[in-house]
Amino acid sequence: MVQTQVKVLNNYVGGEWVEAKTDQTEEVINPATGEVIAHVPISTQEDVDQAVKAANKAFQEWKEVAVPKRARIMFKYQQLLVDHWDELAEIITTENGKSFKEAKGEVQRGIENVEFAAGAPSLMMGEQLPSIATDLESGVYRYPIGVVGGITPFNFPMMVPCWMFPMAVVTGNTFVLKPSERTPLLANRLAELMEEAGLPKGVLNIVHGAHDVVNGLLDHKDVAAISFVGSQPVAEYVYKRGTENLKRVQALAGAKNHSIVLKDANLDNATTQILSAAFGSAGERCMAASVVAVEDSVADAFIEQLVQKANEIKIGNGLDEGVFLGPVIRDNHKKRTLQYIETGKQEGATLVRDGRKDEAAKREGYFVGPTIFDHVTTEMKIWQDEIFAPVLSIARVKDLDDAVALTNQSPFANGSCIFTNDGGSVRQFRETIDAGMLGVNIGVPAPMAFFPFSGWKDSFYGDLHANGKDGVEFYTRKKVITTRWV
Ligand code: NAD
Repeated sequence: MVQTQVKVLNNYVGGEWVEAKTDQTEEVINPATGEVIAHVPISTQEDVDQAVKAANKAFQEWKEVAVPKRARIMFKYQQLLVDHWDELAEIITTENGKSFKEAKGEVQRGIENVEFAAGAPSLMMGEQLPSIATDLESGVYRYPIGVVGGITPFNFPMMVPCWMFPMAVVTGNTFVLKPSERTPLLANRLAELMEEAGLPKGVLNIVHGAHDVVNGLLDHKDVAAISFVGSQPVAEYVYKRGTENLKRVQALAGAKNHSIVLKDANLDNATTQILSAAFGSAGERCMAASVVAVEDSVADAFIEQLVQKANEIKIGNGLDEGVFLGPVIRDNHKKRTLQYIETGKQEGATLVRDGRKDEAAKREGYFVGPTIFDHVTTEMKIWQDEIFAPVLSIARVKDLDDAVALTNQSPFANGSCIFTNDGGSVRQFRETIDAGMLGVNIGVPAPMAFFPFSGWKDSFYGDLHANGKDGVEFYTRKKVITTRWV
């Protein structure tokens, strides 16, 4: 049976699709239509225990499987994901709302993670020094850490889980995934395809639910590490509780990403890039452009072009041809966004484009049109808070120094971009800006799978970022062996 079509989703434990031990469920809603497409169980501590037990049992054998053999499963998985590309993208659009084109892009990012993980035989290599003293040598060997728990957000139902479980399992760990209860469907399909690729039972497990499952993983003595991606308060909580329980934790958090537009920038490129970064995925991206600091002398021209392009955006169901801007995730998130628009006006910002007035914003589904505020300042809530919706704030600045000072006042520091043709400005930006992921003349500088992904300050808790060599480090532990040859 295709698990994505069942009414109440099952958990995936020890290679079996099992009912959660709970009567409590939540509706999974297509945000473009308001229609209920499934029910997700709010699983219990008992469900977590069962999954961790299965993962722990599987770990004892999986860790002994030769690394190239584990990697070969990733090669198969990559091919299956490619074969099912459109189907996966359609599930993403249906449960999350983003356009089909963006959903296809998300599938691509997930596939890239699997491709990176397939390089495990090279990535897991240790290092040796054949002579540290006479007849004495040393070497580092890399091993998996055990059962890893993964907790993911609603906005990237494929990409974010794929930051975690492919690298975790290929390096020899077993995994318990707790997908977002708002977008839980895709995870089940990913697991079905993983099984088809030949992953042994119990290596990947899924427990659907909410806080209880998260706490169950954070407190479980047999969970060695936690990978978390989600909002700032929850990331901080997960990091504190997980580390208090002596687990390895990486917690990627919320954001408020600033773009800087200097007077020598190519405005056509800057407006196209920023438009896509601010309103793509309905602004529900941790790398969304939420604030633009634009040099005074080009601010009017920049805003005029931006508004013109925003007016051309097609809003609607992401499965419809040509749609760029889909709905936000839920009705209450739409209400919260509309409240922020009202707050911005009351705070004294100039509302230059009001997304509440777009025809689509009055339809069924949780649509908000592209919204742009000018003259935003740092005392305003619309500058401070992560709105996570298609609302863009513009702040006018004197120069680059001013723009960097403004950006660095934010407690968030995920991504930041500069638009300029001046090398010196790029260097100054790179050296002085607080952010983990930078872009130059590009809107969303999301690093690819082989580079680390994460921010600084309140956008990240932990040491080792997701992906790249950091990912390999996070999911492995080392032994150093010193040998005397006598
Ligand atoms: P969220 O924090 O509400 O939920 C994330 C996960 O935590 C979900 O699985 C959820 O069930 C669980 N959770 C929520 N509240 C909890 C609580 N009180 N106790 C225990 N578990 C809890 O995040 P979201 O709304 O699903 O996702 C959007 C957020 O994720 C945004 O803030 C966005 O910036 C962030 N995000 C960050 C990155 C990054 O790389 N830094 C990437 C994607 C999303």
